[in-house]
Amino acid sequence: PEPDCSGPEPDAAGTAAGWLRVALDVPLRGLFDYRGRADQAPVGSRVIVPFGSRKMIGVVVEHPLNPDTPEDQVRDVEQYLPDTAPLPDAWLRMTAFAARYYQRPLGEVMLPSLPASLRKVSAYQGKRSAEGPVARLRKRKRKAQPVVQQDAPPSLNDEQRRAAEAIAAQQGFRTLLLHGVTGSGKTEVYLHAANAVLAAGRQVLFLVPEINLTPQFEQSLRARLAPVVGEDGLAILHSGLAEGERLDAWLRATEGKARILLGTRLSIFTPLPELGLIIVDEEHDTSYKQQEGLRYSARDLAVWRGYDAGVPVVLGSATPSLESWFRASNGSYDLLRLTKRARDVSLPGIRLVDTRRLQLQDGFSPHLLTAIGECLARKEQALVFLNRRGYAPVLRCNSCGWVSQCPRCTAHTVLHRGKGYRNFLQCHHCGYQAPVPRACPSCGDQDLKPMGRGTQRVEEVLGEYFQGARIARIDADSTRRKGSAAELFAQVHAGEVDILVGTQMVAKGHDFSRLGLVGVLNADSMLFAQDFRAPERLFAQLMQVSGRAGRHAGQGQVILQTDYPEQPVYQALLRHDYEGFARHTLQEREETGLPPYAHQALLTAEARELSAALAFLAQAGAQEGMPCADRVTLYDPVPLRVVRVANVERAQLLAESVERPALQAFLAAWSERLHAVGREHKVRWHLEVDPLEI
Ligand code: ADP
Ligand code: ZN
Repeated sequence: PEPDCSGPEPDAAGTAAGWLRVALDVPLRGLFDYRGRADQAPVGSRVIVPFGSRKMIGVVVEHPLNPDTPEDQVRDVEQYLPDTAPLPDAWLRMTAFAARYYQRPLGEVMLPSLPASLRKVSAYQGKRSAEGPVARLRKRKRKAQPVVQQDAPPSLNDEQRRAAEAIAAQQGFRTLLLHGVTGSGKTEVYLHAANAVLAAGRQVLFLVPEINLTPQFEQSLRARLAPVVGEDGLAILHSGLAEGERLDAWLRATEGKARILLGTRLSIFTPLPELGLIIVDEEHDTSYKQQEGLRYSARDLAVWRGYDAGVPVVLGSATPSLESWFRASNGSYDLLRLTKRARDVSLPGIRLVDTRRLQLQDGFSPHLLTAIGECLARKEQALVFLNRRGYAPVLRCNSCGWVSQCPRCTAHTVLHRGKGYRNFLQCHHCGYQAPVPRACPSCGDQDLKPMGRGTQRVEEVLGEYFQGARIARIDADSTRRKGSAAELFAQVHAGEVDILVGTQMVAKGHDFSRLGLVGVLNADSMLFAQDFRAPERLFAQLMQVSGRAGRHAGQGQVILQTDYPEQPVYQALLRHDYEGFARHTLQEREETGLPPYAHQALLTAEARELSAALAFLAQAGAQEGMPCADRVTLYDPVPLRVVRVANVERAQLLAESVERPALQAFLAAWSERLHAVGREHKVRWHLEVDPLEI
């Protein structure tokens, strides 16, 4: 055959144009070819291109010899964006891996992982924006940071020293699981390991699960490592930042000016040219899992990134995920242990109060009320934990049994106490709000009563029992305003709060210095959840919240109210026995063939009618002709527990295999087919690899 000598046309300037293959953030598989100059658009650079009637920013991933579509249909690149260096190879590899592993189009991985202004056409075009966001940012002066006093670092105890040395001694990739009981001083271990890596001229990526934990770590990092890396050597990234701050942190990390990047899950995608160590604190935390769009696990990607970069990865927790514990048990990970608290205090004493034969007062046992009183008398703080925000989980009519229901979801609406006692009902699934009815909509009776208790009601009750006590509530409602969570936590740390009421937000990571007592309400509600991971999550949560007590001085005390004190989860908690709990639960998982002994992917379909969602899944579930089909089990489609949310009905189908490569091969072919089947049915669907909740 004749060789193809046509080549691209020279452009107006007479320079040879080439072909550019571009990844775009569109829900279509594949990449998109444009005509443009390869010398101006190296692989990894960003360009503005036309797409349909829109313009979009994309990432150049290849300079193909020929376009995939007929040449006369290939459109021209509209603008080159040289204001950032091309994204580096390591970033291209990682996004390609994530796209492959999580079965998403490459552009849907790449673009969302960049700061918004680097992927928004409007940031570059239009009168005021022609110079682009990076130039605008560089004209602004960076805010100087409040220099923090450097506190004298404690000298490490033997266990801490051994752990820090084991990390620092790593040459190349290795995953180390740091299992340290609550208050064992894991932070000091991270700081020492980080110090060694920074001194060797490498960068450190430090992941924390929650925005609320960044101030605590920022303070320690600034105080302890700023002398090594300079005030500008620390960059912070989380979703609560203004766009300019986020771009600034991203650029400094990417250009190597920031030596430590501290951030939440989204920072896992930030290029770090001299990466030397990755730390994932509270690695068990489900916040590392993104629950929409690209449903990735930042913890899992951290391990892949360490492998790709040839650097050690430290996963730290008092309650490691069973996946990580399993890998440490079989030798894939190294296990480092901190078995006692770092300060001269012991783990809190835990007491289960059997509430079956007790007369509770507003949800409180006499034991807990007495203990709170004694705690306050000792001038210590008390924490009351319950994982339910709002005033009461439901409003009920005492006459006919009517309960408040969301009209858009198969769920109750929650009673909330608004400003000035203007109460309202809110759906925690779709956000729907309604005023509280004056009378029962069903029978007209006016005897409507809140049923059960949420954080607001507990706060109110405590106020009545402990008059004069300063009470603070920390939950998603009380911290909606930007910065309010940080303010509330600062008040707790400063001793301006006597009783803290909170949801899981208060359970994580915080090093409270004056907290003597933790009371746990309503833990039972999680005992009988259907999700096979529920006991694991409950145990971790209880162990974590218990671990907030007695961290600096005194003897911490935990009181857990339950109707089921004999449950294995509670019995293990009583003994602070993570390892026993893990062994027992892993054995159950092995017997039932559940993760980590199997690998899963979850296909979810959403439609106006449940029947349409189920029909799509039924057709999707025919697996003939798929690779490795004999090693992958597809279960029957089932409706979700909360089947309708915001008038959309949902069903799901679980795929499972004991061999990860078999599942991956299957999923790659399967997701091709899902796109085709999805077009025939009017459903929205998504595939989630390694789902956390099924
Ligand atoms: P966790 O393991 O729960 O993350 P932290 O890192 O928050 O524990 O440490 C708990 C407390 O112990 C902190 O107040 C910390 O300053 C203190 N600490 C850590 N290491 C030492 C040490 N070697 N000597 C004395 N105190 C220490
Ligand atoms: Zn709703």
